[in-house]
Amino acid sequence: MTQLVLVSRGYDLSALAPRITQAAPELSVHAFGTPEAADAEVAVCWNPPPGALRTLPNLRLVHAVAAGVDNILCDPGFPPVPLCRIVDPAQARGMSEFVLWSVLHFHRGFDRVLANQRDARWDPPDQRPAHACTVGVMGLGEIGLQVARDLAHMGFRVLGWTREPKREAGIESFAGRDALPAFLAQTDVLVCLLPLTAETRGLIDAQLLRQLRPGAKLVHVGRGEHLVSADLLAALREGRLGGAVVDVFEAEPLPADDPLWRAPNLVVTPHMASSAGFDVVAQQIAENVRRMQRGEPLMNQVDVGRGF
Ligand code: NDP
Repeated sequence: MTQLVLVSRGYDLSALAPRITQAAPELSVHAFGTPEAADAEVAVCWNPPPGALRTLPNLRLVHAVAAGVDNILCDPGFPPVPLCRIVDPAQARGMSEFVLWSVLHFHRGFDRVLANQRDARWDPPDQRPAHACTVGVMGLGEIGLQVARDLAHMGFRVLGWTREPKREAGIESFAGRDALPAFLAQTDVLVCLLPLTAETRGLIDAQLLRQLRPGAKLVHVGRGEHLVSADLLAALREGRLGGAVVDVFEAEPLPADDPLWRAPNLVVTPHMASSAGFDVVAQQIAENVRRMQRGEPLMNQVDVGRGF
């Protein structure tokens, strides 16, 4: 039997165990720290404690339970084995729902209407067509591309910012740091769907926010460390930024005394934008373990050197 270990901090993976054994009865699943786990060939992780993976001498595969792998690769002791992540079209569609809601929240003036309701104020906002609003999506990967396509389908003007140029109908492509100012200067609603890497950490700071159209909005669904939250607060308080929906934070759960909870026109959501169901996660892990055993190419393997 192949031994598999669940390694997680802050997220209970125990409900994944029966699903993995159902998808792959030849796997024996253990919690990290138990004697059986010491022989594990496969580690399934969310936010593993630094150094934990290094203690597993037989490790042949590390599998994330999520699309992002930053909380695994941040371990300086990450072992020299393949790392795979989850890619799920249903998760991408779920993200699209979340971002579409966020864009419409601002575009159709629900933010102002909800604030007015507290004062029993009847003040219908102006209605602008979708094409009058430009949404800039940073990251057109497995998730960002679905989001950008759906926004374009709704009639929004959509720009995409990536490392390499893209050819995608209905999406204007901007690639690399040199193209970032032109991308930002045209953006009314900025959506962050980047992976967290050395290049993208702290990217959304005062300098970036200043380059957006006056009164622009931010929809941040990447990772907390992309955003310099003090700069976001200042931009909102000074009115340079018109509003934000923020789903991801450096510290999660967001502490009760964090000023972001009470920032003007900021919607805080509890890292809920989209996740893959445990059944899908278990099936992808089971399939990759079979591929590992047969020596076949793995699905959704991460480029560890690149960081995503
Ligand atoms: P992918 O790895 O499929 O795509 C990443 C995209 O980001 C690519 O288009 C890539 O460009 C672009 N990119 C990476 N680095 C840079 C850079 N330095 N400059 C410009 N563009 C860059 O990722 P996914 O779409 O699967 O997921 C994206 C992220 O979304 C995850 O890493 C995670 O952080 C976040 N997420 C958040 C969730 C939530 O609930 N809040 C749920 C799921 C994911 P190129 O194509 O040119 O390589």
